[in-house]
Amino acid sequence: MKQPTFAIYTLGCKLNYSESSDLSRQLVNAGFSYAEHPDYIILNSCAVTAVAEKKARNLVAHLHREYPDSQIVVTGCYAALRPKEIQQWPGVVATFGNEDKMNVLPFLRGESLPTNPPFFPAFSSSDRTRSFLKIQDGCDYHCTYCTVWRARGESRSDNIEHVLHEIEQIHSMGIKEINLTGVNLGDFGRKNGTNFYELLQAIEKQDSGIRIRISSIEPNLLTDEIIALAAESRMIMPHFHIPLQSASDRVLGLMRRRYQRDLYAHKVAKIKELMPHACIAMDIIAGFPTETEEEFADGLEWLEALPISYLHVFTYSRRPNTIAAEMVGQIPSPVKKDRTNRLLALSEAKKHIFYNSHIGETRPVLLESESKNNWMFGFTDNYIKVRIPFDEGKINAIENIVLTEENLELS
Ligand code: SF4
Repeated sequence: MKQPTFAIYTLGCKLNYSESSDLSRQLVNAGFSYAEHPDYIILNSCAVTAVAEKKARNLVAHLHREYPDSQIVVTGCYAALRPKEIQQWPGVVATFGNEDKMNVLPFLRGESLPTNPPFFPAFSSSDRTRSFLKIQDGCDYHCTYCTVWRARGESRSDNIEHVLHEIEQIHSMGIKEINLTGVNLGDFGRKNGTNFYELLQAIEKQDSGIRIRISSIEPNLLTDEIIALAAESRMIMPHFHIPLQSASDRVLGLMRRRYQRDLYAHKVAKIKELMPHACIAMDIIAGFPTETEEEFADGLEWLEALPISYLHVFTYSRRPNTIAAEMVGQIPSPVKKDRTNRLLALSEAKKHIFYNSHIGETRPVLLESESKNNWMFGFTDNYIKVRIPFDEGKINAIENIVLTEENLELS
């Protein structure tokens, strides 16, 4: 009998990548094989912005044109939010939201669909050097611009024992770095009577030697004890990704964020006091409804003085069924674009300063398989991208490299 074939496409966040990777392993273990022109195409979609949704629509249309006899299954946030719309698209045979994603395999086998536990773990393994390990899902914060909490459901987590088991498993595959991932990572364990700090302590005690990165963590959940633990740790990398979203306290209030900018500045100061070399990345939204030019300019000045390493800048995008989308005082597109560009310019400048301040230091670099024009690339412990001449034998090696003007990869 012919083996069924599949292909899987992923859009969006690291959580989606970890879940797609897990689903691929499940399908391969169940006897499916990968093919470019497959029987089944799975698209793990994203709905965080209007652009992400457009990408999903275009991709499905393109795949259906290229492979008209393939059956398409759409999963992920877009499928969770608007399944009926997607079910009308030519070629689509089924949709599964985030909580039912793991029903794709029984569906493809024509089996009855089980009821799933609220949390299912996942990790990515397509990359030889690093893995995204999902330890938490969902969010109870309900920020006024966000659709993710609707699409991903209530906050829930894995348990500490199982996370340690997954770390062992990833380590035994020869992968050198794990990125702990969740929708609201810092909320890990709250409903199981534990917390993120206790998880990190347990990981430290396990002492597997694998490099650990903490993906995005809300500033109010990044406690001083977590920062102190990271500073002492051999495994937790000096690298933080902390969303701010707005540098105006009034706008933060409208967004229903759970902190003001002083708290953010305190966290940055604490990190820099204990780990002056740490990389700190920030998420920020340009052009949230009612944001005035004065507020924006004041925020920009405040950001200039903050010792962060770079910014992920998002232009505010009006998402259906959110409070912010209905607010009076939407910002015109050209203004949003202008503010986005000013923040991007600031990010560029900060990244240069951060990179250049480490020239002359020797730092451990995990070398990856990506190669371009006979160069290979890797990241230092503090997330500086470095290039060296390509050497296949060095893929997945951690090398101590002296940072120079020539080997820093700023692009
Ligand atoms: S913290 Fe806010 S922005 Fe982040 S997922 Fe939760 S609701 Fe969305």
